[in-house]
Amino acid sequence: AKHAGRNCIRYFTKSLHDSAQNRLTLINDMRVAVAQKQFELYFQPIVDLGTGRVVKAEALIRWHHPERGMISPADFIPLAEESGLIVEIGDWVFREAATWAKRWNDLFEGGIQVSVNTSPSQFQSDAFKVPEWLAYLQSLDLHEKYLSIEITEGLLLNASQQVTDKLLRFRDAGIQVAIDDFGVGYSALSYLKRFDIDYLKIDQSFIRNLGTEENDLALSEAIVIMAHKLGLQVIAEGVETETQCRLLLDIGCDCGQGYLFSRPLPAEAFETFLGGAGKA
Ligand code: C2E
Ligand code: CA
Ligand code: CA
Ligand code: CA
Repeated sequence: AKHAGRNCIRYFTKSLHDSAQNRLTLINDMRVAVAQKQFELYFQPIVDLGTGRVVKAEALIRWHHPERGMISPADFIPLAEESGLIVEIGDWVFREAATWAKRWNDLFEGGIQVSVNTSPSQFQSDAFKVPEWLAYLQSLDLHEKYLSIEITEGLLLNASQQVTDKLLRFRDAGIQVAIDDFGVGYSALSYLKRFDIDYLKIDQSFIRNLGTEENDLALSEAIVIMAHKLGLQVIAEGVETETQCRLLLDIGCDCGQGYLFSRPLPAEAFETFLGGAGKA
């Protein structure tokens, strides 16, 4: 930027201003989005690699913005976190996911566990109330084992007493916990001793080049071995090819999730997929 003239500087200032404006507008739009039912949950199957059966589903939020069309969670979740709206949105996600889990539990033999993404800022907020989530499951008469939550390593690394208490409450109630994006973060593994975790989800950056990068295969295998020794199950994210699937099976990975099996689907389409996958 040293050689930039006045025009360039003005250009950058203007674009910064635009994006700050943009963010404010989006945050305001988000405030009404829950009330106006602009959010929708998609569901992506998680497959047992050994049997090929769908054993779980991850709930992924979508925003149908009235003017901008579909906005990716990667674009609005950070703003929801910043503005604190993530608590309200997260509450909606949980209730919606639980409602569908209840329906699939009634429709399909054995039911299906639905896993819900959570943000660290949600856990850190006083407005996030675990008892309300648990009460909602009770009101649906849905067993807690049909819900799980995905958290990131960062949450555990600097977990306050309050965060720890919330996690323990979920655990004590029978809600399973998965570490999302495992391997890309801090990977200070000591937290695995302190918290009772059920699943590690290997980040898709390790899976992408599984067939060509020997290091990625070695790291994935090491994660699986370590997880199993600690009594955890492993889910590989972003499985797109048969080759990746076979390699994952070879190294003993328990479950896979990715476009090879299915893209995330609207609830009704996911339900059809489940019926077709022999769940009924
Ligand atoms: P994530 O939790 O790591 O979710 C997996 C992402 O990978 C999803 O993107 C999914 O659509 C995508 N994906 C699945 N299979 C494949 C594949 O085979 N190849 C590739 N390239 N991608 C695949 P999505 O739905 O856009 O979500 C992005 C992120 O937004 C999520 O990453 C999660 O961090 C966040 N997110 C989504 N829904 C929620 C939510 O309800 N609450 C919170 N707090 N965060 C959410
Ligand atoms: Ca996730
Ligand atoms: Ca992930
Ligand atoms: Ca993530």
